Amino acid sequence: MGCVSFRLLYFLAFFAHLAVQKTVRLALYSTKSPAGLFITSANTMKIHEYQAKELFRNAGIAVPEGHVATTPEEAAAAYKQLGGEIAVVKAQIHAGGRGKGTIKTNRDQRGVQLVRSAEEASSVAEALLGKELETIQTGPAGKKVKQVFVEAGCDIDRELYLGIVVDRASGLPVLMTSEEGGVNIEEVAEKTPELIFKEAFHPDQGLQKEQVESLCKKLNITGDSVASANDLMTKLCKLFVELDCSIAEINPLVVTKSGQVMALDAKVNFDDNALFRHKELLELRDLDEEDPAEVRAGKAGLSYVQLEGNIGCLVNGAGLAMSTMDLIKLHGGEPANFLDVGGGAQTEQVTEAFRILLGDKNVKAVLVNIFGGIMQCTTIANAVLEAYKQVGFNVPLVVRLEGTEVEEGRKILAESDVDIITAEGLTDAAEKVVAAANAA
Ligand code: GDP
Ligand code: MN
Repeated sequence: MGCVSFRLLYFLAFFAHLAVQKTVRLALYSTKSPAGLFITSANTMKIHEYQAKELFRNAGIAVPEGHVATTPEEAAAAYKQLGGEIAVVKAQIHAGGRGKGTIKTNRDQRGVQLVRSAEEASSVAEALLGKELETIQTGPAGKKVKQVFVEAGCDIDRELYLGIVVDRASGLPVLMTSEEGGVNIEEVAEKTPELIFKEAFHPDQGLQKEQVESLCKKLNITGDSVASANDLMTKLCKLFVELDCSIAEINPLVVTKSGQVMALDAKVNFDDNALFRHKELLELRDLDEEDPAEVRAGKAGLSYVQLEGNIGCLVNGAGLAMSTMDLIKLHGGEPANFLDVGGGAQTEQVTEAFRILLGDKNVKAVLVNIFGGIMQCTTIANAVLEAYKQVGFNVPLVVRLEGTEVEEGRKILAESDVDIITAEGLTDAAEKVVAAANAA
């Protein structure tokens, strides 16, 4: 999931002391779990590298020629079509770190490989397609490679880094660059943040020429390459704004031996909240790459993020959900998810939320924490009973209700034959659910 997005925001915060508190705070949940990146990942649509490069090409941003392949034969044909001696076969998954990542059943096979013949293109494609690729960003489960991108090799002189994100503190997009390109930008950000050069730009005015020139100086881009860098950077900044991106990252951005600046990798994420303006982008979505439970929750209008703990949480309101997760952590537990059913959820939505929670085999106990404002406690109580009827509870259920129609809600639960541990207040709820999970 949104690993790089998170890291980008995190390191932006790190060296510029920006206010991305929510994201940073969620680091609590993401130290082990890349899924803990909900602020960005849940609000972001990812696409594949080859799709991002297609968008780049259409915007006039320099990328090598390449063709996508789903079979070894297609990969061989793509190699021939490129017509050069060297090509690169790249696994297409929604995660970075492919160059260093390996195929789970064949640790010698990396996710990005240079090839020098059609036969080699075919055999590398064969070694990648249908296999699980594990990278630093996929977690141990890896991701299945369904497509490879066969791209013309290029004569790299230097590998740089370039990324654009929105700086929440200034409310402006920021272009970040570094000479330390390649695969280890997070480390650079952490250990030597002074080696990352930034320029904020106004969305309507775009990146200015002087800004590019200043960056080029710091990056030691000289001569004809300055014009090439200017072309790429200004067009990418424009694309970022026009397509409502949340991230646009090129790592590596290369300077070729002939001095051209081009994008060798491409990572583009879009802000979900703006996707209604870009129907054409929705077609690029690859649901196979997304967490099935999250896709399902999205369809039901629930904000759900899968985590790696064993306590399922059903909460209304993002703030309360975060506090609930904090309290669970404080009492020694680990949340299995973030779930905000929202203020106006109906019984059916809440029942679906239970189905999703109880469908996670890691869940050893569930905490329902509702503060009824718009949400009525009776809706939750009825949904609990409905879920019990439909899915059954195989784990202990702790319920804390407060707010609108709380007495009626409690009565519904008390009069039912569902086995429920009731809690008074947040601390009591957290203690009880952690105890229940530990006893399981
Ligand atoms: P990532 O590891 O998932 O970020 O995948 P990248 O697209 O960044 O590829 C990893 C590395 O492969 C890059 O940093 C480059 O060093 C190398 N690479 C990718 N494309 C080419 C290419 O066309 N020519 C050469 N020589 N190396 C390439
Ligand atoms: Mn890369």
